[in-house]
Amino acid sequence: MSATAFENDLRDQQFVLFEQLRIQENPDPRFREFSRDLYDMVLAEAKKLAEGTVAPLNKVGDREGCTFDNGSVRTPPGYKEAYEAFRQGGWIGLITPQEQGGQGLPISLGLAITETFTGACCAFMMYPGLTSAASSLLRAMGDDWMKSVIFPKLLSGDWTGTMCLTEPQAGSAVGDVRTTAVREGDHYRLCGSKIFVSCGEHDLAENTIHIMLGRTPDAPAGIKGLSLFMVPKVLVGPDGSLGERNDVVCSGIEHKMGINGSATCSLSLGDKGGAHGWIIGREGEGILRMFHMMNEARIAVGVQGLALAAAATEAATDYARERVQGTRIKEFRDAAAERVPIIEHADVKRMLLLCRSQVAGMRALGLMLGHTADLWHGAEARGDEAEAGKLRDTIEVLTPVCKAWNSDQCFAVAATALQVYGGYGYIGEYPAEQYVRDSKIFSIYEGTNGIQALDLVGRKLGMKGGMAFMQVMNGVNERIGMLEGAGPFDAERQALEKARDRLGEAAMHLMGLAMGGDQDLPVAHACDLLTLLGDVVVGSLLADQARVAWGALKGAAASAGLNLDDAALRTAWLNSDESARFYYGKIDNLRFYAHQFLPRTAALAKAITSSDRTVLDAVI
Ligand SMILES: Cc1cc2nc3c(=O)[nH]c(=O)nc-3n(C[C@H](O)[C@H](O)[C@H](O)COP(=O)(O)OP(=O)(O)OC[C@H]3O[C@@H](n4cnc5c(N)ncnc54)[C@H](O)[C@@H]3O)c2cc1C
Repeated sequence: MSATAFENDLRDQQFVLFEQLRIQENPDPRFREFSRDLYDMVLAEAKKLAEGTVAPLNKVGDREGCTFDNGSVRTPPGYKEAYEAFRQGGWIGLITPQEQGGQGLPISLGLAITETFTGACCAFMMYPGLTSAASSLLRAMGDDWMKSVIFPKLLSGDWTGTMCLTEPQAGSAVGDVRTTAVREGDHYRLCGSKIFVSCGEHDLAENTIHIMLGRTPDAPAGIKGLSLFMVPKVLVGPDGSLGERNDVVCSGIEHKMGINGSATCSLSLGDKGGAHGWIIGREGEGILRMFHMMNEARIAVGVQGLALAAAATEAATDYARERVQGTRIKEFRDAAAERVPIIEHADVKRMLLLCRSQVAGMRALGLMLGHTADLWHGAEARGDEAEAGKLRDTIEVLTPVCKAWNSDQCFAVAATALQVYGGYGYIGEYPAEQYVRDSKIFSIYEGTNGIQALDLVGRKLGMKGGMAFMQVMNGVNERIGMLEGAGPFDAERQALEKARDRLGEAAMHLMGLAMGGDQDLPVAHACDLLTLLGDVVVGSLLADQARVAWGALKGAAASAGLNLDDAALRTAWLNSDESARFYYGKIDNLRFYAHQFLPRTAALAKAITSSDRTVLDAVI
């Protein structure tokens, strides 16, 4: 490997999917015909396409970006060919049920593959990612025509999809959308302007299906007055044939900080009397319908965060192995002492361990949520409502955490990974600076992280009288509890228990304030609580990984006749055995996280429970 080429961490994906979550043992009949071998093959194929075809687009797409010319947008060189390979490979319909034309694979596996392609080139992956999300929405909620004619075109990638919420005056405040939709026979005519539409115009496909929020005449103000529409770029006949250009045009693209290969478009509707749009569901159901797409998209953004954090960490680790600088600390007075790779310096190791343990936690969180969604759908299908309800609650509470925690930590990891390079991280020769720029958007779009925190504290914390939150805490308790007697993890278990108690206390404090009628202070501490919850959930997932890895290590050591308590023998073994090194890395991740990272939960809990009102009272 080199410090400039992308490498997907297939080994860790396999560990999470097959050793931690054990998705191959899901008894759901939908997955009966699949096997671990098939899953491995799909993961390996994704890795091959991502590393060989998609990753080479990352730098050129960043440097050249998209080009706007009189309403048209040209994507960077190589995008068309890669999109065609992606489309033909059937990757867009990976998790779509087989009876609807997809591959029917588990969501957890689909998210791992999203990580693989996003890590290779995040900007490129926006086009098929949004297409897949739009297809999922129409499959679930479209009318017969949308399901039979439009959906297959999205599933095959012949056409692409977008989601259009944002307008100049309506960003976080989606309820302020002004785009109008007036009924005309079996459809509507839409007028208005949308901004920041990812992949809103491009040259990868002959048609684009915009999923768009608008407002019908006399609809009530705010989100209750919104409806959802399907607005094709080119009008579509009943049989799927393409007709005239619809009255929706791209009026420009943004010049931005990162993901430059993804066209961020302004769309103008209504210069010729209004764009034709077809309603999805009924009038006034727009936000409800849009949430189907947004909830999936929020977990996907968490996985985007994982993907770039992982790519940045891999590249920085390779660089640290290659870059020789300075001597060992014991020999620093000796001018003739051997010069060592920077990975031997304690501070560089600290940075890499921080990055690695965070990435492991992000991956565990994202894929665990995917697996929970698979179990939920399975429970629903067999009519087990009680189980389905619990699984759904976990997803509801952890969706904003996956989106916001992963994206915040991704940006921090990308910045730390850059630091590993020193000056070389700051220049364009290496990918580190692009990862920092590309990853910033994850905390902003799909609802800023501030809005995710509001969702957690305002809706999810008190959901079902606090039972949904308790469901998440049960999972945390179970994972921490399983550490007991499972290996040499007493100190780590205690650190996790303390952090969990701090979280419980902080959450109770905010719920108490809210029940006492104070809405302001809980909102002021919403981001802190989300971070604290993410820290604890991720800590418990790393504990789970260490427990599983310790079991594997003990087995391997016993076969090799090795005493794991003998430090010298253990080190020699780890240096010579890649598999043992991988598993021991999980132990190190937990130790590092529990003792070096988790202490920040004390500060967060203290700030939350302080009842300090400066944020509310300060005049700025
Ligand atoms: C590259 C890019 C791609 C995008 N792609 C899409 C897309 O495909 N489709 C689409 O519809 N949109 C897209 N967006 C828009 C994106 O979702 C919005 O930018 C985002 O939701 C924030 O809206 P805003 O920019 O208007 O910020 P504002 O809403 O003005 O927010 C500014 C700040 O105020 C905070 N804030 C606002 N309201 C509150 C509140 N009530 N409580 C607490 N804090 C608050 C925010 O957290 C933020 O920190 C994209 C944006 C970018 C930059």
